[in-house]
Amino acid sequence: MLDQIFSYREMCDIENVQTLQRGMNFRMNPHYSVILMSRRSNAPYSDKILNDSITIEYEGHDEPKTAHDMNPKLFDQPNKTKKGTLTQNGKFIAAVEKYKKETTIAEPIKVYEKILPGVWSLKGLFNLIDYRIQHDGKRNVYIFSLKLSDKQDVKINTQIDLAHTRLISSEIKKEVWKRDSGKCVICGSVKNLHFDHDLPFSRGGTSLSSKNIRLLCAKCNLSKSDKIE
Ligand SMILES: [Zn+2]
Repeated sequence: MLDQIFSYREMCDIENVQTLQRGMNFRMNPHYSVILMSRRSNAPYSDKILNDSITIEYEGHDEPKTAHDMNPKLFDQPNKTKKGTLTQNGKFIAAVEKYKKETTIAEPIKVYEKILPGVWSLKGLFNLIDYRIQHDGKRNVYIFSLKLSDKQDVKINTQIDLAHTRLISSEIKKEVWKRDSGKCVICGSVKNLHFDHDLPFSRGGTSLSSKNIRLLCAKCNLSKSDKIE
């Protein structure tokens, strides 16, 4: 489900790994890749949501710090390691190029976003559709374009209505998390939480203001949809 909230541990358990250290994880399992993003003010990369509200621009990753004593932010982001194998950037680029030649579908990427330390939110399943090289004033960086997929579950293929879906920004999520004290606003549960549109976008609700977003647990969300139908 979009906007579900997890602790770091829960996120690792869902992805069946001990730790998730890297931001970019190409084909972490047979079905999809995983990206971690952070739009917090101290985040190391500048990731953004575009005005269409369903496209993310994700910055590629720098040279590893251990490679030299210099600041990695002064070097072009690499697509190959010193040994000549593809870096995560290189693997993402190869996937875009394969997709553009129409030899394959766009790479499915699950995006998690850090809201606060230890609080992660599932932004959803995206398709990796494009990349470009951008000069940031000092060096070249990669910018990857990811578009929200209309299929939100790689296994059961549930579809969402893209025209009526808008991503909630990190700032608003952080504000809502603090305002609702990390608990379901109805029953006070701290388990199975997600960011809920009080009034669904399809009924005129907006993701642009925290007033319309609240924390809800899975149980209370179910009884809410009962009432609507
Ligand atoms: Zn509840």
